[in-house]
Amino acid sequence: MARLVLFFFGPPGSGKGTQSANLSQQLGLPAISTGNLLRQHYQSIGEHNAAMNEGQLVSDDLINKLLVERLNQPDAQSGFILDGYPRNKTQFDYFYNNIINPDDKICAIEISVSDQEVQHRIAGRRFCPKCGAGYHLTYKPSLQADRCDDCQTRLEQRPDDSPETIQERLALYRRTMGPLVVSWWQLGELIIINGEKNIDSVYHDILSVLQERGLVPPKSEIV
Ligand SMILES: [Zn+2]
Repeated sequence: MARLVLFFFGPPGSGKGTQSANLSQQLGLPAISTGNLLRQHYQSIGEHNAAMNEGQLVSDDLINKLLVERLNQPDAQSGFILDGYPRNKTQFDYFYNNIINPDDKICAIEISVSDQEVQHRIAGRRFCPKCGAGYHLTYKPSLQADRCDDCQTRLEQRPDDSPETIQERLALYRRTMGPLVVSWWQLGELIIINGEKNIDSVYHDILSVLQERGLVPPKSEIV
């Protein structure tokens, strides 16, 4: 059976998770995050793996194995959306050598956001250490400056969201994804979407390009 295979990728804060979830719902295809597969795996064997958040330190063999198991599930037989995979050339080559079928329809969608915009989006995130509520200085400000609306606790910034850490995460992203972007471009499977518009516009753009390429039915036919 010909499957629709969509890869979603973008820098931290690009909103690719939201976009792939929306598309998943509209197309009736599972959105599969290898990060979630790993979390479930470690929970099932009762092991907390500190390396997990580092991504690149988790063995490619394990990720590939978990992905193959997931893709064998009945809901993935007509297609699937991958969020966060492949993350390096080893995973990319494994996928193209072992998972792709000749008649699969493939598209890699990059949600493109400038480094400056990523910095702005992530550096503005705040959270309440007591109740866990999330805020953003620009997009979702608390009523009182740096106090939680619900419990008045002083808001904090996650260490991962500091400008220095974001810079490192961005550099890692560009370095590891660069070669994959080139490969997808050479295969004619790359679509670059401007991720700096609002969520609805970005979604509309993604859908339009997929329709233009004949990968999903025209809008009127989508339930
Ligand atoms: Zn709170």
